[in-house]
Amino acid sequence: MSSATEPEPAQLLVGSQVIGLRGGETVLEALERSGFDAASGCRAGTCCKCMLRADNPPPESQRGLRPTLRHAGYFLACQARPTGTLRIDQGEAPPTLQARVQRSEVVAQDVRRIFLVTAEPLEFRPGQYIEIFHPSGATRSYSVASLPADGVLELHVRLVPEGLVSGWLHGLEEGDSLRLRGAFGQCFHVADDERKKLLLVGAGTGLAPLLGIARDALEQGHAGAIDLVHGGLAPERLYLRDELSALASRWPNLRVHHCVLKGATKREHEGSLDEVAIRLSGPLGDTRAFLCGDAGVVRLLQRSLFLAGVPSGEILADPFEAAPV
Ligand SMILES: Cc1cc2nc3c(=O)[nH]c(=O)nc-3n(C[C@H](O)[C@H](O)[C@H](O)COP(=O)(O)OP(=O)(O)OC[C@H]3O[C@@H](n4cnc5c(N)ncnc54)[C@H](O)[C@@H]3O)c2cc1C
Repeated sequence: MSSATEPEPAQLLVGSQVIGLRGGETVLEALERSGFDAASGCRAGTCCKCMLRADNPPPESQRGLRPTLRHAGYFLACQARPTGTLRIDQGEAPPTLQARVQRSEVVAQDVRRIFLVTAEPLEFRPGQYIEIFHPSGATRSYSVASLPADGVLELHVRLVPEGLVSGWLHGLEEGDSLRLRGAFGQCFHVADDERKKLLLVGAGTGLAPLLGIARDALEQGHAGAIDLVHGGLAPERLYLRDELSALASRWPNLRVHHCVLKGATKREHEGSLDEVAIRLSGPLGDTRAFLCGDAGVVRLLQRSLFLAGVPSGEILADPFEAAPV
């Protein structure tokens, strides 16, 4: 008869299959022994090819992973030796939902801020992105600027010349309906160190995820300094300035900076976004950076901030790559 104190057997649950773990065996070894075609590489916790997801992975199997991956339950199967039951997530597809346009407003020459209400609640972390279905079936990704508590999904959509989905979204009116699915992405705030310095940098509509991440961190009580640097080619390309100023007045640890490549007025810094961000933020050793927007700019920021001292594991990036056409 089993007693209440008897330890739980070390085992894996993969769908309906139960795999008992042999003494000292890793999750990767147990999966291979049971005939699963598990991806693997270095087997030393470095290459990350064997990464899987579960609700409660052993902490040592998450060492070295980015904070958002740890938070989402990712772990390295080659380093995991569970002592109880570990249910491996088999990656259910995020739901597809019906939504309608609540409001759409022009915020810059080529940017609209579009508010959507979904028919059912969508689970997301501010800064993640959703995929919008065009009537043709094509999908494009857009980052969420709002918080779940807002009850709406706020998107910032730049009109791309000849763009299929951005052009269609810019033409939608209040009450129009659309389909979306999500949420995706690993660029969001994790409240694992409330004093850490946060540096949020992005150009153009890269502001959308950064706004969501900044608000989320502040609402969760982040106490460390938060620097948000929004860049654009010229002053008229920057948007939501009043809203950002109001946010910074409400939260003393938030500083908002604007940066343009040329033609700066008294309200903006002038220069390359990476150089301005590094100059404004001071020592970067204990910093977590969030970089969003145009893919080329994000790659430049990643390189420059790493060279300036931000640890690579603390750089969370969301490059807005164009969809293949
Ligand atoms: C993770 C992620 C998050 C994103 N979040 C946002 C967001 O919050 N706001 C937002 O506005 N966009 C965002 N994007 C970009 C968005 O998904 C679309 O790629 C963009 O709106 C263009 O789609 P389209 O259908 O209008 O243009 P398409 O029909 O796909 O492209 C039309 C033409 O423009 C070119 N093109 C497309 N994008 C660009 C570009 N950026 N620069 C130069 N040429 C381009 C294409 O190669 C093609 O020749 C995000 C992308 C990703 C991957």
